[in-house]
Amino acid sequence: MHRLFISDLHLSEQAPSIEEALHRLLETETAMESLVILGDLFEAWVGDDDDSPLADRIREALRRLSQSGREVLITPGNRDFMLGAQFARDTGATLLADETVIDVAGQPALLLHGDTLCTDDVDYQQFRLLAHSPQWQHDMMAKSLDERRELAQQLRAMSIDAASNKAEDIMDVNQSAVAAAMSAANSRLMIHGHTHRPARHPLGEAERIVLGDWTRDCGWLLRESGANLTLENFAIG
Ligand code: MN
Repeated sequence: MHRLFISDLHLSEQAPSIEEALHRLLETETAMESLVILGDLFEAWVGDDDDSPLADRIREALRRLSQSGREVLITPGNRDFMLGAQFARDTGATLLADETVIDVAGQPALLLHGDTLCTDDVDYQQFRLLAHSPQWQHDMMAKSLDERRELAQQLRAMSIDAASNKAEDIMDVNQSAVAAAMSAANSRLMIHGHTHRPARHPLGEAERIVLGDWTRDCGWLLRESGANLTLENFAIG
């Protein structure tokens, strides 16, 4: 299996070079059989009815990929948690549950975005619970696209404000949460994004691999090729 894992591109009209890097990756990685996007593909996702040019271009790119026979798996992140069934139909992608175990390089690997591991950030976890409730999402989808875009901007501004007041270490994963998730999944390999701290962390017999966020300077991917896993960094722009 030749598979690429990416996350945290935070695509927006404000960062065209990052979107170009994604299109380039999809064109050049011709040996890729499977693409796994572990959340925050978009800086914000206001609903599958999003008719913005960016949403259209990305839907089209993913549709081409899946139509060419590649598997496309997506775990929604904390920015694009509103990705839903219509987006999956539009693109041919499969949306994964918050925590999913698949076979990676010959062993069961636990895939997740990573925000659920940041349990020390109590305010965020409370918001997450609310925003993932069917009622909240129903109320959100009852609003117009323009209203939702406005709300997404406000939430983003509040989140930047909150992050600037938080201790550095509560934005990272909680080690007990990592151990509990791996144990519950019966997995010795965890792959996630979200924290923007790309690294491979050995944990005794186990390993936690953290994908990196894409910036105007560089992007990150994890490559699964047969039994090998490599965390790679490449230039953007
Ligand atoms: Mn995130």
